[in-house]
Amino acid sequence: MKRSLVFVVALLTRALFAAEDDHTGFRVIQERSEDGVTLIMKSNYCVEYTVTLEATLKNMTSSRPLPFTVDAAGRSSFVLARFKKTDKSQPWTYNYYYHWEYGGRRDSTSNDADYAMPFGPGRYVVMQGPRGSYSHFKGSGSENAVDWDVPEGTIIRAAREGRVVGVRDDSTFSGTDPKFKPLGNYVIIKHADGTFADYHHLKTDGARVHIGDEVKVGQPIGLSGQTGFTSRPHLHFMVFQAIDGKKVLSLPFRLKTDHGVFTEFIRGQSY
Ligand SMILES: [Zn+2]
Repeated sequence: MKRSLVFVVALLTRALFAAEDDHTGFRVIQERSEDGVTLIMKSNYCVEYTVTLEATLKNMTSSRPLPFTVDAAGRSSFVLARFKKTDKSQPWTYNYYYHWEYGGRRDSTSNDADYAMPFGPGRYVVMQGPRGSYSHFKGSGSENAVDWDVPEGTIIRAAREGRVVGVRDDSTFSGTDPKFKPLGNYVIIKHADGTFADYHHLKTDGARVHIGDEVKVGQPIGLSGQTGFTSRPHLHFMVFQAIDGKKVLSLPFRLKTDHGVFTEFIRGQSY
């Protein structure tokens, strides 16, 4: 899932420039003061994400060297930067672009843990495997994701224990146009080693956990569906970490079931 958002503001007003963000729950709010502006990052559905801010300033200075990348680290609202007027007698302007991705950064790219089938016991068919040409191709950020072919309403269970850091289940949209990419419902779980699992395309109102919940392996976390960028009901399962606000790295994972251990997933085969 590529979920970056680019956002540009060239003029100073007190209005919230939130048009596109209504769909994603991510937005930057500007608070103006006498000597400049404070940019506050907010999110509705996820508290573990990574933001990259780029900006062009004229007659202003930034509280943080630009561009920069910062981790939300559990916060749904935090100050991104303060832009201060340098010479108040001269004209001043700013433009900024922000990009966000789910999850946080890590020092390592290892993923040495066992993952359970995210539906519990049984055999399930792979609809699209790693590096699949539909949406898991190189550069997609989903290179190691697996799409499991399950009917809408299938109970999704945590494949690994962790803490729920992202939940969205209010989207009713789906389709094959890439514009639907930010419109999938999901549960995101953070693991002890700093990796994240994305359970994606959940049914509307299909989440069964809340941000902050600790979940055990096998615990029901939601119902599968068909929201977002997809033409058929399925579960997109991916383990990942953020690279910056523009890219995530999907990680290979080891699936351990009662009938075997699997690290490769081929379209059309069951596991
Ligand atoms: Zn997928």
